[in-house]
Amino acid sequence: MPDWDVVIIGGGAAGLTAAATVAGAGRSCLVIDRMGGGGELMNLGPLQDLEEDLTGPDLMARLLDAAITAGAEPGITAVTALTPDPTGWRIGTDDENHTARAVILAIGLAPGTLGLDSETAFDGQGLSHCAACDGPLYRGEPVVIAGAGRWAQQEARDLATIASHVTLVTQGEPAPAVECVAVIQGRIAALHGSPGLDAITIHTEATGEPQRLPTNIVFVQTGRRPAADFAPATLARDPDGRLITDAALRCNLPGLFAVGDCRSGSPRTLAGAMDEGRRAALAAIAPLGKRSE
Ligand SMILES: Cc1cc2nc3c(=O)[nH]c(=O)nc-3n(C[C@H](O)[C@H](O)[C@H](O)COP(=O)(O)OP(=O)(O)OC[C@H]3O[C@@H](n4cnc5c(N)ncnc54)[C@H](O)[C@@H]3O)c2cc1C
Repeated sequence: MPDWDVVIIGGGAAGLTAAATVAGAGRSCLVIDRMGGGGELMNLGPLQDLEEDLTGPDLMARLLDAAITAGAEPGITAVTALTPDPTGWRIGTDDENHTARAVILAIGLAPGTLGLDSETAFDGQGLSHCAACDGPLYRGEPVVIAGAGRWAQQEARDLATIASHVTLVTQGEPAPAVECVAVIQGRIAALHGSPGLDAITIHTEATGEPQRLPTNIVFVQTGRRPAADFAPATLARDPDGRLITDAALRCNLPGLFAVGDCRSGSPRTLAGAMDEGRRAALAAIAPLGKRSE
């Protein structure tokens, strides 16, 4: 007998909705999150595209309450291993091991990198992945954001109220204009300074010429991908590392599902994440049949 009917890895909008659905159907369920839950929601203010006016933490509190009230067990730890087991899957964490008949991967997207060899030397000394955490340290100074996605735009807007000057460096996808933010289409090609960052070199797409820009901080919001190194190498992923499923949200390995932002083709919205969490939960418990009281 496995320890759990279903283990859910990741307690964001997708994972918490899956947990409430599994537990609501009377099935045992552990939802593991290394940060305690909420995922992206914890960093968001007023949410768009929902039927109600809610902030990220409001929705997180509501989803967590629904999962726990339904009987899901929350676990605060990082999953470090996922291996096949005769009863289904074995889930290794920083604290202990668990077994489950089915596993739902709801791990979202992890911060990316600039892809430069020198990058690790500047981690925490000029490179950051969180404007809300580190932005206030650079009040009145010029700051740079790398990336064009939703986070990059959000961070640019937030930093524009703090920094003396905000530059958004984007590669490939054009970034929509953000008030008080200079956009450079190009790639950060080098980091300079010792110790700590004092300038970057950008290769601009317009001229192909290197451009040196003084700054003590780059917020990296490019190349976000699921941190699924703990999963088997045979788990199907797309070229961006996102997990491939069929229409029923099943991965290519039996008893394994993927939902939310970590899934290839996910709409990357809250409504989409919650819908996928619910559907994968129902698919995961369907083979277990009716629960005997
Ligand atoms: C700036 C911004 C604004 C947005 N605004 C809106 C909006 O207004 N409306 C809307 O519909 N959508 C919005 N979105 C999109 C929405 O927030 C996401 O699509 C949604 O939150 C994704 O949920 P998720 O559960 O898939 O992933 P996440 O919320 O990223 O949750 C993943 C969780 O997995 C955990 N985890 C990862 N790896 C492990 C591991 N190995 N062990 C344990 N735990 C792990 C993480 O700690 C995290 O809590 C916005 C996104 C951004 C970036």
